[in-house]
Amino acid sequence: MNNITIHNKTLPIPSFFQVFNYGGGAGDKTRELVYARLSGDTPALLNYYYINNEYTHLFQSSYFNNILSFNKIGDALNYVTEQIITKDCCFYKESNIKPYDFNQKVILLDSGSSNIVKYVAKDCNYDIEKFKIKIIEHAINYYNFANKLKVDMVVAFDLGGKYTFKDDEANNIELQNFYRQLNKKEINHLLLEETIKYLKQNQGFYPYVLATVHGDTPHNYGNYTKEILKLENSFNYQFFGFALGGIASSKNIDSSWYDGIKLPKNKKAKDATLPARAINIVRRIVGNRYMHALGCGGYPNIPMNYYCGASSFDAASPARRVGDGNGLSTSYIFSPRAAIPPKAKFSKYFVGGYNVDNSMRKENFDYISLYDIDNNLPLCGCDACNQIKDITELKLLYSQQANNAESFYYAKQLMNIHAILQHKKLCQVVSSYNTMKDFCNNYSNELNRALLFIYNQIVST
Ligand SMILES: [Zn+2]
Repeated sequence: MNNITIHNKTLPIPSFFQVFNYGGGAGDKTRELVYARLSGDTPALLNYYYINNEYTHLFQSSYFNNILSFNKIGDALNYVTEQIITKDCCFYKESNIKPYDFNQKVILLDSGSSNIVKYVAKDCNYDIEKFKIKIIEHAINYYNFANKLKVDMVVAFDLGGKYTFKDDEANNIELQNFYRQLNKKEINHLLLEETIKYLKQNQGFYPYVLATVHGDTPHNYGNYTKEILKLENSFNYQFFGFALGGIASSKNIDSSWYDGIKLPKNKKAKDATLPARAINIVRRIVGNRYMHALGCGGYPNIPMNYYCGASSFDAASPARRVGDGNGLSTSYIFSPRAAIPPKAKFSKYFVGGYNVDNSMRKENFDYISLYDIDNNLPLCGCDACNQIKDITELKLLYSQQANNAESFYYAKQLMNIHAILQHKKLCQVVSSYNTMKDFCNNYSNELNRALLFIYNQIVST
């Protein structure tokens, strides 16, 4: 698939989507918006549940209270960022980084449906019949929201695949019983049908819609995909593409995902098997149509994702590895190792990848504690790295938390965006090779050799 144009914006294939979760968290999430200029035209994934204050949630921002008074999601984000900078002063002034115009980005909206399902279930007093009616209303509200704000692309609303329960939810007997009784397959089918009916009635619907695929085994993943195609046929409607869900984590997955595949020792490559296999299954059924792999954009996944047929993917790992760092650690970044208290946790810096001139860096890909990064490690030349002269300066910004919290936040965003731009760079590099074999042979290292070993098996099963 070649680069595509979405609402006059270019979307390279493949593309890595940066996850913006302001409204679903504070602190670092706030600064993701403030320094968005550094990630330039990298496309963005937003979560509807976090930006829609109709749903009461923990980190909701009052700046989103009137989000529907805007006609474009980019304008809403520009407004929120301006408030954060001028009212909350969450900005490291010395950085001189100008706010970004979010209208330049391709923005994909995901529903965050697992949170909405919990919300609606409670609202219906865990009555399944009431839930079935209500959840469709919420789905329609979601589409109306995306349309009003002219979001570029939207993931179709469905119940999601896997559910994780927070401590209080694991003890909620009513909620647990509700989930056990919920016929997810039936309701997802109903939601897909209602989605198609809605879209046929709203011919001018602005966002490009991706139908969501789920399934706990390769067999069920394929069947779900075929069911979507059947619905498309019977309604004479075609989705723009597909969003592949439930394949981001290999934890507790059905062993049949590995049937016929001999796994290498390299753990990073092993973990890339699940998304690659799911992508390959869907690609074989739907042909050359747009496919986004939800949550699957972790760095080692990217080559297989692409050559198996994904058009795009997202991951929050760059932000998460930066979020690993706590305030306590900032006092010890230049201290002897023996002086560091066990509770001090450092943010992690992305190593490996490519320099700005596409040459491969010497280190193998990994996220390493900033403390352990050599002060003389050459920077990669990306827009985030260009804000500093060396690693020592980055550590210095990181260390000043006690006097200037914004300096610490800024250091973390430089690390976050450096990692994001490395993901973007890898997308550019793979897209210039026709085959996985050519790419891996030209950039031969242990990870790429292990990935090629898996890839050859996936495409030949
Ligand atoms: Zn960099």
